Order: sequence, then structure tokens, then C-alpha cells
Amino acid sequence: MVLQTGDGIRAAFSKKRDGPVPVAIVKCQDYEPDQVYDALRRAVSLAGGPDSYVAFGSHVLVKPNLLQGLPPERAVCTHPAVVAAVIRLLRERGCEVTLADSPGGGIRYTPASLARQYERAGYGSLAGDPGCTLNLDTGSDTAKYPEGKVCREFPLIRPYFSSDHVVVVSKAKTHVLTLLSGATKNLFGLVPGLEKPLLHSRFPSGERFGEMLIDLNLLVRPSLQVADAIVIMEGDGPTSGTPRHLGFLLVSPSPLALDMVLCRLMSLDPMDVAYLRCAMERGLLSPDGSDIEIIGDPLPPCTAPPVKKPRTCSGVGGGMQVTPLFRAVHAFGKVYAMRPSVDPDRCTGCGKCTAICPVHAITLTGGRARISPRHCIRCYCCHEMCTDGALLLGRGVAGSLIHRLFLACGFARDEDERPGA
Ligand code: SF4
Ligand code: SF4
Repeated sequence: MVLQTGDGIRAAFSKKRDGPVPVAIVKCQDYEPDQVYDALRRAVSLAGGPDSYVAFGSHVLVKPNLLQGLPPERAVCTHPAVVAAVIRLLRERGCEVTLADSPGGGIRYTPASLARQYERAGYGSLAGDPGCTLNLDTGSDTAKYPEGKVCREFPLIRPYFSSDHVVVVSKAKTHVLTLLSGATKNLFGLVPGLEKPLLHSRFPSGERFGEMLIDLNLLVRPSLQVADAIVIMEGDGPTSGTPRHLGFLLVSPSPLALDMVLCRLMSLDPMDVAYLRCAMERGLLSPDGSDIEIIGDPLPPCTAPPVKKPRTCSGVGGGMQVTPLFRAVHAFGKVYAMRPSVDPDRCTGCGKCTAICPVHAITLTGGRARISPRHCIRCYCCHEMCTDGALLLGRGVAGSLIHRLFLACGFARDEDERPGA
């Protein structure tokens, strides 16, 4: 049976599929292209075969971990041999492929910068196939997700909106904020450029960021997950850790199930990964892993010596303690993000905004809405609800100055001035 976009993953998320979710794990000692391709074919076949996940002749967005376009030996980006193998498999099924990602928030999201990141990550030669395009469209649109638990709309890079399937090709790494960067976290790269720090600002704690990541995965519902755990990064990932050889490729329809298995492979406790804890609380994962079927080569009983955790890891309850760098990112987001305010001349005191505000930051005083900036988390739900045009969005003095600077430097576009930006 050919499933339409995301049906497989939705079933995997909601446990509506029969039986446990498969995670195929296959040994692959190095990045020799044919060896990687053979390992990938075997893993996809073990997980149910490509027909279960990607329709023949469809348009597929392949989402690697591009991050900062660093060379393969740094183990920051998904290795080009793994990306090439995924594209080869899809091309053999007559699919048109667009390789697309938005690098980390500190990297300019412009066509010229994207082209540089592809080259540096070793993806440049992938464009040699006429059926594979390296995305240079840096536009974005808003995807609504009314069912979201904490986030009901996401700005997403434009190729997402024209694809039939999303196939995520992640790099297994430890991460200073989320402890694990695998399949679930990789999807954050569909959020364009400077929108990322804004989301970090709106969801500053590990729990809230984790809930947002789950909402994003449920919205996008990638059709298939491939994880490059041939050489992982340990320590202060996602960029400043140390490469370490583990020698495995993993494939699954479910990002959460795949990340659970990555935890075992990397000797991490899933309860220390906030988004996995959140998924368990939402009933999307069993804490004991009984809803996951691991198929293929045996997992090593333990990884010796244990994979090094980031220095930010508190070790108990998975807390990623915020480093000065992340404090700076969050502080930046707070200053730069647009804030809601009320136009008292237009406000009718209807109370729709007070009812929707998830943190009760709005009160009705003298028949007019008033917002407490201290409590507002900038979800913009009030703006969406107000049909009287009384909810305004704008930046403070410092935020406006930063934005003007970004405009002058080409870091931002005027169209960024919209809700959620
Ligand atoms: S929804 Fe709009 S009009 Fe109604 S109370 Fe809120 S700001 Fe005023
Ligand atoms: S005041 Fe508006 S933007 Fe702020 S948290 Fe409440 S609903 Fe969200």
C-alpha cells in the first residue's frame, strides 16, 4: 500500500498502526558510497520497504542537518554519502528531490549563503543529477496547526509547501540545549533563518521547547526518517563536540521511536531528553519502549566508553542548563520578537483575547484589554483572535533598531514584519 504524505508517521505518532513502530538498525562501518547505499536499502526494506512511505514519482523534500555547512569530518552535518544514498533510493523510485534546510539562526538565510553551506558540507555534487535540486528559495510561508499544544502556527521554508513527502536525514549528536539532536530536533531546520531564535525565545525551557518540537513534527508529519550514526558527535554538540565512530544507520517512520533507539545506542537516558519526556506524557511513546520494534543488526549492549554528554547537562531530569551563549540567544529573541499591544480606541472589551491567552497575560480593565509584557510569551494567539483590529504587533525601540540593522545588512526582509515573525 502506498501511503500519502505523513500517514505512516501520523499512525506511528498516534499508535493507530497495528503493532509496534519499526526502527531498523543496520551496521555501516564507513562512508564508502556503495556500502552506505546497501546499508540504507537494507534498513528501509527492514522497516517495511519504500512503498510503505514514499509514493512512486512523488516530489520529496529531503531535509538533512546542514546547520553551518561544515566539512564532513567535523560530524556536524549529515554526511554527504548518506544524503546521496537517500537521494539515489528516491530517484530510483522516479521521485523528484529537493534538498532543503535552513541553517542555524546565526547563518544568513540567503541564496548565496545557502549555496556556500551546501558546498562546504559536501552537498554541491548532488546537484549533478537533473532530478535533484539544491534549494535556493529563501522564502517562507506560515503553516497553521490549530491542534498544536503550544504552537498553532509555524513559519516554514517554502519547499515544504510544494512537496508530497518530507524525508528527514539527521545526524546523531549530543546537543547543549536538548541533550540529543536526532530525528525530532532536526525538523526545526524547516523554520527559516531568524525565526529560530524567536521560537527559542517563546519556548525557552526544555519542556516547552520540546512540546513545540513535537507540535512541529505532528504538523509536518515526515514520511520517513534516516539517521546517520556512522560517526556521531559527542560532547558539546551540535557544533563544538567531538566526532566518534559508532558505525550504524537507522531508519524508521517515527522520529520519536528513532530517537528512543538513538538514546540506547548513545547510552543516554530518554528521560533526560525533554521532548521525549513530553512525548511520553502526551501518550505518544511508552517509557519502556514496548511500542518500538528494533529490527536488523543487534544493538551493542552498551557503548564503551559512554558517549560524552554536553557540559550543559545537569545530569538529573535532563535539564540542559542554559549557557551564556543560549542566554544571549534568548535575550536577543526577547528584544527582537514583536510584542502585542492594545489600541484602546479600537478595543471593544469583548474578552476574546483574554480567553485565548495561554498564560493569562491579558486582563480587562475599564472595559479594555491590557497586556502584561512580563508574562506574555509571544504566541500571538490574541492577535489571531481579535477581529476588531485592536491587537497591534510591533517591536520595541531596541528591537526596531536591530531590525533596521538586519534589513541594511540583508539579514532580514520587510516581509518579516508579520505575526509570528
Ligand atoms: S479581542 Fe480585541 S477587541 Fe476584544 S478585548 Fe481583546 S483587544 Fe479588545
Ligand atoms: S498576550 Fe497575546 S501574545 Fe502574549 S501570551 Fe497572551 S495571547 Fe500570546
